[in-house]
This record gives sequence, structure tokens and C-alpha cells, in this order.
Amino acid sequence: MSYYKINNLEQYFKHYNKSIREPRKFWGKIAEENFVWYQGWDKVLDFDMGEAQVKWFTDAKVNIVKNCIDRHLAKRGDKTAIIFEPNNPEEAAQHISYNDLYDRVSKMANVLREQGIKKGDRVCIYLPMIPELAVSVLACARIGAIHSVVFAGFSASAVASRIIDCECKMVITSDGAFRGNKSIDLKGIIDEALEKCPSVTKVLVAKRTNTAVNMKEGRDQWLQPLVDAAVPNCVAEIMDAEDPLFILYTSGSTGKPKGMLHTTAGYMVQTAYSFKNIFNYEENDIFWCTADIGWITGHSYILYGPLLNGATTVIFEGIPSYPDFGRFWEVIDKHKVTQFYTAPTAIRSLAKENDEWVDKYDLSTLKVIGSVGEPINEEAWHWYNDHVGKKKCPVVDTWWQTETGSIMISPIPFVTPTKPTYATLPLPGIQPVLMDEKRNEIEGNQVVGSLCIKFPWPSMARTIWGDHERYKETYFSAFPGKYFTGDGALRDEVGYYRITGRVDDVVIVSGHNLGTAPIEDAINEHPAVAESAIVGFPHDIKGNALYGFIILKETGEYRDRDNLTREINEHISSHIGPIAKLDKIQFVSGLPKTRSGKIMRRILRKIAEGDFSNFGDTTTLLNPEIVDEIKSNRV
Ligand code: ATP
Ligand code: MG
Repeated sequence: MSYYKINNLEQYFKHYNKSIREPRKFWGKIAEENFVWYQGWDKVLDFDMGEAQVKWFTDAKVNIVKNCIDRHLAKRGDKTAIIFEPNNPEEAAQHISYNDLYDRVSKMANVLREQGIKKGDRVCIYLPMIPELAVSVLACARIGAIHSVVFAGFSASAVASRIIDCECKMVITSDGAFRGNKSIDLKGIIDEALEKCPSVTKVLVAKRTNTAVNMKEGRDQWLQPLVDAAVPNCVAEIMDAEDPLFILYTSGSTGKPKGMLHTTAGYMVQTAYSFKNIFNYEENDIFWCTADIGWITGHSYILYGPLLNGATTVIFEGIPSYPDFGRFWEVIDKHKVTQFYTAPTAIRSLAKENDEWVDKYDLSTLKVIGSVGEPINEEAWHWYNDHVGKKKCPVVDTWWQTETGSIMISPIPFVTPTKPTYATLPLPGIQPVLMDEKRNEIEGNQVVGSLCIKFPWPSMARTIWGDHERYKETYFSAFPGKYFTGDGALRDEVGYYRITGRVDDVVIVSGHNLGTAPIEDAINEHPAVAESAIVGFPHDIKGNALYGFIILKETGEYRDRDNLTREINEHISSHIGPIAKLDKIQFVSGLPKTRSGKIMRRILRKIAEGDFSNFGDTTTLLNPEIVDEIKSNRV
């Protein structure tokens, strides 16, 4: 019996039970049957949760790129591995076959070696969503260099702090990046960042925008001539299962970004397995994940997961609103995309626009649509299901984190019946538990608590780079022996999970624990509201009260603000209860968001409290200017 693919609900429970009773046998069998290894393992798993020490497939030897590319060549050499869709729709898309990818990655890997990069060295990759980004990531992995991809929307100081934190030797960047109708001076940002980064001795620069840049003598080189001179064969490094594969910084919505370290074999096994099942992947599918490769979603589900399965994956350079709000749907139509995976923030922003943008394209090739990054509110879920999935594509609401490496809780399409706003059931191998304040596991259904995972899984991060104590403290100390996710969740009457948001986002009003996500959900259903964020602030009588920041839809319709405030509160009263009514409502033109599109609630909390002294690390903010607007209009 193979465990790699789940075909129906009965099989899901069978595999799930096996994975809990005999996790070593379960993962051992998947690892053995679906990958190529230089050498097998000694033990499938060795761990001590108290010390935050976890090892999977001990002493096994493997190279993830051999599994992503080389082993497919015999059967799928001419098959398209990557479809590159440029920012500008007039520029031709590129189809990169597995053979081409092999050549490009091997040449790039040889360039890295010639430039002195060795196994274990850190390489910072700061590139737009162009093929060179994928090629650079895979080239690092081929020679055992540790890639640290930094999203190319980050500022110089944000990049610098990430380079300094893990002491990168090299930066791979480009002259510039296209984003909608803008062109961004990436090389200039890197030049500024590197003034503070003595560890970097080499910078390789890809050409994208053909804009003029400064090239620092002895440090900077154009990438293409080096690649052209390299040979297209490169012996892959033999990696230990637990050798580091990459460092990736979390999005920073709750504090200083953490450099999560992922290792090789466990990450490989579980990203491949989860991709196959959660997207119901079949041989000729065209998979498109709209995340940036600079986030974990892009690492696991644009690159590693799809390529490990020999799939065709789309890399999209642009943004959803350029040249118009139909771009996502046009790309699905053009490339006959079968699985589409995006974030609630994108869904909400497109749902705000006229439905004609989506209705005019042929989306009939789609079979599964996914969501990740935040809880998806009910209204957005239905819009996505109706207008994009046409009610025939299961919506997979996938809950996971940078730390978990791969999707943890999600429906399996055509297997798990979906339920709006519910991530539903854990994947085989994942053992979620809900904990109460007294650190006891909450049994049974129809309960809420802090979401923990009580048993190791292969793709979990192994540490925070350079700070194992912080790793232990952040994730393994609140509930001893368990991994604490930081998120709260509800388990319904059939055992489905709904993520209610960060535990920090629970506000205690007059002794009642109120999750802010369901209140936001209720507010967002009001026809005048586009988006909202609720936080708590200290209140003499209630302990805490609720403060709502609300963005209105641009309907042009005149609305009396006092009336609207009253209506919104009536809406909350009838949907949640009078206890959840907002004490203060501020209408805003935008909300502070991270560059991955998440609301930075800690800033709103400070503003609601009237404390403007220290907003903490705001380097990951997309729209810092909004903070001043909100501050000055505080009610
Ligand atoms: P930081 O840890 O630095 O504050 P972050 O948590 O935003 O940043 P990520 O690892 O990218 O960084 O995001 C993981 C978090 O996103 C989860 O802990 C959860 O709060 C939220 N999340 C992701 N997917 C879902 C989902 N499907 N439903 C609800 N929440 C989700
Ligand atoms: Mg987090």
C-alpha cells in the first residue's frame, strides 16, 4: 500500500490513523518510495521536543535538486517545468523545459562555485519574480549553499538586517524590477544595504530593466557573461538529511522577523507530499501560486513542491491590478491553469472591483482553488467560490506558517467536504491540539483554544538561525513538550478546525474572550465596508474595549458617518452579540500592512492605546505613510 496519494475520505482516515500510530513507518514509506537517495537513513525520527531538537531521516544522504530536476529528465525532459509570465502582458511568456532548467541551474551552480561559494555558505537572493530567481535558489541547493531569499519589495535597511543576521557572503540581485507600471531600482537598494554588510564580498547582477546601475569594482559582476561561460553540468553536492537548505525570515507581523532554518530531507518529503494531495496534482496540470518566492508559500509551492512532483509551475512577475483588475483571470485563461493558489488580501481587493473583470475570462480549466496567509472571511470565501471556482472547484483554505515548512491543516480537494472559513482537517502526520490557559489539552469538539502541534513533522523548522534559545522560547516554552503556533483555533462539532487569528488578537472585554477575526467578519458583511481591523484598548470599566479601523467601499454613495457607525454596531450585535460592539470606530483610507499583505495589528493596538512612542520593527511595512494618517485622525 502506498501512502503518497489520498483518494477518498475513508482512505484519508486510514492514512491519518496510520500516521499517528506509526509515524516512522508512515513517513519512512513515503520517503522510500517517492524520492532518490544516495544513502538511506538510520532512524526515521529522533527528537526531544523539550530541547526543540528534531531530526528526520538521520544519516540519509540526498540532494533536493536531483529530486526536483535530474530524476525527471528521462521521462519529462521536454516537459515545461516553469512558465514565466512577465509583468507586461505584451512581453512573450517563456516556457522552460526540465532539460533547460537542468542546464540553467547547473551553469548557475558552477558560477557560484567559481565565485568561491561552498556548502554551508549563505547567499542572499534579492531578485524580482523572474526565472533567474528560481534558477539561483536551485543552484544554491545543488551545491549545498544556504539560500536566504529576501522579497524584492523590502527596503535597504530590511535587507541589510537580514544579510547581517546570517552573514551572507554573496548577494544575487538585478539592475531593477518591474512592478505594474513602475520600475524599481533594486541594485540601488542593495548598494545602500551593503554599506552596512561587511560579510558580502560578491554581488552578481542579472539584467532585467536595462537601467543604468553602479557596479562596484572588485565586488559586482554582471551575471549573464559568467553563466554563458559556465559548463552545463554540475555534480550535485551530497547533502546530509539534516544539512541546512535555507533560511527564511517570517513576515514580521508580530515582531522582529525570525530567520527560520529549514533542513533538507524532511522539507523535501513533506512539501512534495502535501503539494500532491492538497492540489490534487495530476501529470498534465498547470499549477499557479501567486505568492512571491520571497515567502515560504513561494518556496514550498512555486518551487520545491511542484518541481519535486515533475509539475509545470507558473512564475508571475506582475501584480493583480496591472494592466487592469482582470490580470489574474487573463493569465489563468491564457495558460490554462488548473490549480490557482492565492491570498485573502488579493481576493478581497479583486472582489471589491466589478465582477465583469473575472466573469469575462474562461476559467473552465480550473479544478482546485486555494487560499493562504490569513483567515479568509466568509464574504471573500463565497466570492472566490462563486466567481473564480464557479462553485465546482473545492476551495482549499490552507493553514500553515513559515515555521511549519508545508501546509498543516487544509481540506483535501474531492476528499474533505469544505466549509467556508474552515481549514478543516490536519494532513496525515500532523497532530494539532487545542490548549487552555492552564496548559491542559482541551478534549472533545465545539471548543476553542491555543493551537499547538504535539508531535514533530518532517518539514518543521529546526531552529532560528544563530539563536536556538529564542526558537525554544518562542515555540516550545508556552506549552511544554508541544510546538505552539501562536494562533488560536476553534474545533467544531465534527472536528473541523477554524483558525481564529493570533492568540494576541484575542481581547478580553468585561471578562469575555473575544477573537477579533469573527467580529471583522461580521463588519465586512456590511455592504458599505471593504475591510476592517479590530483591536483592544484599555478601558476603566470593561478592562478592555474594542476599537475598529474601517475602510469603506468606494461606492460614491453618500453616507452619514454617525448612521453608519450605528448600523455597524447593530450588525455586530445581531451577528456576534452586544458584548462585541465597538467603543470607537475610525474610518481610514488604508490599513498598515506587511509586504505579504497582512495587517500589522500591533501598530493599530498602539494607536488605539494612544501610545505613539515606539512602534517596534516597521521595516516590513508596505505603506508606512498610512500610519501618520491613522495617528492624526485617532478618535
Ligand atoms: P511573524 O511570525 O513574523 O509575525 P507571520 O506569522 O505573518 O509573521 P508567516 O509565517 O508568513 O508570517 O504567516 C503565518 C501565519 O499566517 C499563521 O501563523 C497564521 O496566523 C496566518 N495564516 C496563514 N494561513 C492561514 C489560514 N489559512 N487561515 C488563517 N490564518 C492563516
Ligand atoms: Mg508567525
